[in-house]
Amino acid sequence: MLKIGELTLKGLNRRTFEDQLLKDLKQKLKPLGNWQFVLSQSTLQVIPPDGEIDMNEAYARALRVFGLSGVSRALRCEKSMDVILEKAPIYLENDLACARTFKVEAKRSDKSFSLNSPQICESVGEKLLDAFAHLQVDVHHPDVTVMVEIREQFAFLHAGQARGAGGLPAGSAGDAAILISGGIDSPVAAWMMARRGLRLTAIHFASPPYTSQRAEDKVHKLLAKVARYAGRIELYVVPFTQTQEAIQAHCPEDLFTLIMRRVMMRLAQAIAKEHRCKALITGESLGQVASQTLQALVVTEDVCQIPVFRPLIGMDKNDAIEIARSIGTFDISIEPYQDCCTVFTPKHPRTKPKLAQLQIAESALDLDKLMADALAGTRKHVIES
Ligand code: ATP
Ligand code: MG
Repeated sequence: MLKIGELTLKGLNRRTFEDQLLKDLKQKLKPLGNWQFVLSQSTLQVIPPDGEIDMNEAYARALRVFGLSGVSRALRCEKSMDVILEKAPIYLENDLACARTFKVEAKRSDKSFSLNSPQICESVGEKLLDAFAHLQVDVHHPDVTVMVEIREQFAFLHAGQARGAGGLPAGSAGDAAILISGGIDSPVAAWMMARRGLRLTAIHFASPPYTSQRAEDKVHKLLAKVARYAGRIELYVVPFTQTQEAIQAHCPEDLFTLIMRRVMMRLAQAIAKEHRCKALITGESLGQVASQTLQALVVTEDVCQIPVFRPLIGMDKNDAIEIARSIGTFDISIEPYQDCCTVFTPKHPRTKPKLAQLQIAESALDLDKLMADALAGTRKHVIES
């Protein structure tokens, strides 16, 4: 049983969002068999096909569907109190055997059912107390909350719900391009904006031989983790060596990183436009490094004509790490392969850059040619979910 989340706040276009959520869910469950889907009010019943089904995998996949606030594994049974009382101790055994306290909650969308909610709670509670002698009732802080839901056609029993992935259905907000490095932050930024419904195109700058194939492989692996939630992602790998060498040869050292970032943003925009992406996404967080001070962000953004989303901007590093762990990217991000940002890092980077200084420094570069070459050498990869 899946609970629809934030999109219940939508008005007339709610249907469109629900359709997008269903499409994503169906796509994710399809490899596991032919499921049935019943949506009523804000609850989606997902009914498994007959036969051997990997329910653990199905559950894990449902937890990666954006737009859901809760996911429960439930038993569907006949709408009869006798059947519910017979099945409850058997179905809930695993959850209750290791719990000390519990409570029962009941919900009836079928008001004609013979018992009302308090009566259902009382009789199921009594039955469970009989069956599990060690259990006690705690209505305030129970270890397990048993839910009995009496719906139109069936009754459902479960031992509480896990938090869903939240956000809005995949792809419902349009397209944006994520600038992805092999670090901790950008995969988290990608996931956060995908969770707001953005369909992702990814852009990665590679500087061989300064950066290795393994650094690029790492980006593929990170995106594969994000794609488990966000769906298929197209990745564009941009050759960046020539640009970085030109910056090193012709620009003042203290401005290397900022000039590099401004060129990255220009190239990312060109790729974004070509693929109908309406915004850029980065993993920048205010003040985290010299190129992310307020002044540095201002001069970087100066070259952008489309919005730049930085979902980590106000986050602490530990908050980002927590998300990275929960989406499975952290262990990949900490593999030690160098990113192009750390090639030619100045010893004393400018933290309060002036736009005019950067513009003068950049005039020493043949930017049109560097960018045209980089775009011509860009390679597309497809990361499947
Ligand atoms: P991350 O952990 O994402 O690498 P970071 O804190 O290390 O971020 P920087 O290396 O300064 O910060 O990069 C800031 C942002 O610029 C990254 O979050 C990412 O969006 C983008 N970026 C950095 N390096 C690359 C790259 N090689 N290719 C594409 N985007 C990049
Ligand atoms: Mg980085």
